[in-house]
Amino acid sequence: MIIDGHWDTALFLREQSSILNLPQAHADLKRLNQHLDGAFLAIFIHPGRYADNQSQQFASLFWALLTDVMEHQSFCRILRSKQQLKCGQKFVILGAEGCGFLSNDYAVLQHYYQAGLRFVGLTWNYRNQFAGGASEGGNISLQGQKLIEYCNQLGILLDGAHLSEESFYQLADLSQQPFMVSHTACDALFSHKRNLDDAQLKKLAACNGVVGICLAVDFLGPSPGINTVCEHIEHAVEQAGIEHVGIGSDFDGAKIVKELAGAEYLTRIWQQLADRGWSDQDIAKVAGGNYIQLLERVLKE
Ligand SMILES: [Zn+2]
Repeated sequence: MIIDGHWDTALFLREQSSILNLPQAHADLKRLNQHLDGAFLAIFIHPGRYADNQSQQFASLFWALLTDVMEHQSFCRILRSKQQLKCGQKFVILGAEGCGFLSNDYAVLQHYYQAGLRFVGLTWNYRNQFAGGASEGGNISLQGQKLIEYCNQLGILLDGAHLSEESFYQLADLSQQPFMVSHTACDALFSHKRNLDDAQLKKLAACNGVVGICLAVDFLGPSPGINTVCEHIEHAVEQAGIEHVGIGSDFDGAKIVKELAGAEYLTRIWQQLADRGWSDQDIAKVAGGNYIQLLERVLKE
């Protein structure tokens, strides 16, 4: 199973009616169908640019994405339950990169859940009403605590990418369910405000979570290549353990390592790991097996 923990490809729905076939993008539903088994599709609404109408912006992209995927069910389905993981269909997991679109009305979240939303990050890089972000710092608020509890109850997977360090640790302590950090890299190899340090990698593993190592140039180091990506994966495995590492490319959300800039090239990573002496079994865990385990633990039914 090959699963990618983070695509921003849904953003193309601002200009186009479908993400089925996007030759100019890193990824699309056609390539998901050809080269992967599943991908987490995040809806990102810039909290600064759309400060006045985040909720509307989110709604319009979410419904556009939902409709688009449902119109192309022969390519992939929307993942709603863990039962579906057993039937061998390709899938997308719909989610939100930041909860700024929610007011204090959690009934709205339930509404999105019923439609198919299955993961959320509390905030993007800035602080919002729920949590502190990687750029601004800050704690999880009382509202944020309630939101975590509500997500745990519903079976919505929490994503700790973009959180401040304080909020990361609070999420780890507050969440009854394991969580992911969908697109990040190792701070020990390259210091970046969005990267996880060794203590965070260990904490995430202790919570039974999964870290998605990204393919974004800015997070990995000076002129990174496939080997750099493999070094980050291997460091994350050393710190967190083989059961707690995956890939979260950040396709269509960042500048990607040249040789890996497309969903069709993910296979180059598995090949490189094999060349570095990895067993097929361990490659399978990082390629998608660990996300399957995580989804099994968090999703209902
Ligand atoms: Zn992001």
